[in-house]
Amino acid sequence: MIPESTLLQIAERYDCPLYIYDSEKIKEQYERLIKAFSYKSIKINYACKALTNINILRFIRQLGSGLDTVSIQEVKLGLRAGFAPKDIIYTPNCVSLEELEHAVALGVRINIDNLSILEQFGQKYPEYPVCIRINPHIMAGGNSKIMTGHIDSKFGISIHQLPHIVRIVKATQLKIEGLHMHTGSDILDPRVFIQASEILFNAAKEFEDLDYLDFGSGFKVSYKDGGAETDIEDLGEQISEAFEKFCSEYGKDLTLMFEPGKYLVSASGSFLVNVNVIKQTTSTVFVGIDSGLNHLIRPMFYDAYHHISNLSNPAGKQRFYTVVGYICETDTFAVNRKISEVREGDILRFHNAGAYCFSMASNYNSRYRPAEVLYINGESHLIRERETMDDLLARQVELDIFT
Ligand SMILES: *Cc1c(COP(=O)(O)O)cnc(C)c1O
Repeated sequence: MIPESTLLQIAERYDCPLYIYDSEKIKEQYERLIKAFSYKSIKINYACKALTNINILRFIRQLGSGLDTVSIQEVKLGLRAGFAPKDIIYTPNCVSLEELEHAVALGVRINIDNLSILEQFGQKYPEYPVCIRINPHIMAGGNSKIMTGHIDSKFGISIHQLPHIVRIVKATQLKIEGLHMHTGSDILDPRVFIQASEILFNAAKEFEDLDYLDFGSGFKVSYKDGGAETDIEDLGEQISEAFEKFCSEYGKDLTLMFEPGKYLVSASGSFLVNVNVIKQTTSTVFVGIDSGLNHLIRPMFYDAYHHISNLSNPAGKQRFYTVVGYICETDTFAVNRKISEVREGDILRFHNAGAYCFSMASNYNSRYRPAEVLYINGESHLIRERETMDDLLARQVELDIFT
């Protein structure tokens, strides 16, 4: 954990708004996950859409992780970060055959999630082994935007269409190297994974020569002190036991894969902002900060909770504040939240700002996206410069037809 006094120094050095990532925390999460499984052939593929700074990718690669990617651009970032093609799995949804062909050319693993593309791909590239994304139809996940396994979800090939998959595989002679599922994010109960794994084990019996089964992700992390989180050790124990049993029935020791995003990077991140103004109305004390939904959209998009502390006045008397952004749209971070007394010019810290925070940032209201810093081996390093007017104008074409 980076001491709060150090965070304050880093904020003063690089200015706010600023994202800071603690490499130690990422390492701790990675090692805890690996350790939770007694089954030895386990592989973690970091779902990089959570946080894609190239230095974070390189750090996670050095831990021994592979990479889970959802766009061809993420694939390219992964290659640039030094991941071997075989350590990258490309799990897109509703992309064109052309994009998959691009992935073939780059040599990465491919995970196919619909029958139409499976058939077209199989006809063209029967010799290129692929993984199949199965939708086990399990209702799980923190909210409807992040539930991906239910019956009317757009993700994966329905488990009820298994005979259809088998027919395509036979007809095209496609080699199936793995089966995959990802039932959603923020799943608390290990029984959901167990239930889904039974479905995947059953499906796996239809394929002769698999190399791996990929159970996706969705581990819930705690955003509050003492908040609920997936019991990773319990999960590891239960899945290891079930997996070993399956492998002995299947007659081959497969690789067990997971692809966590949030679990690896969420708690590593802090987002530091300046307090621009304290605005007292007849009903509310607003804290207006130099940020908004352009930098951190999770509270508005998912109703997500982010703990907020006052780095500049940690021992101050606790008071109630409504923390809002500067965007011309309602961008409320917290309502009537207890925070140590806040004054104009103070620096506030948003906790758990590693996953889906910077990676979902935009230039809305023509604001610059924040800078990013990596804290590693006791030192802070700038890993993304603050934007400038040049960035806002970089790809705009200024026509000469206007006087
Ligand atoms: C987003 C995503 C993940 C990561 O989910 P988290 O909740 O961040 O762990 C894993 N696999 C796939 C296919 C995804 O789309």
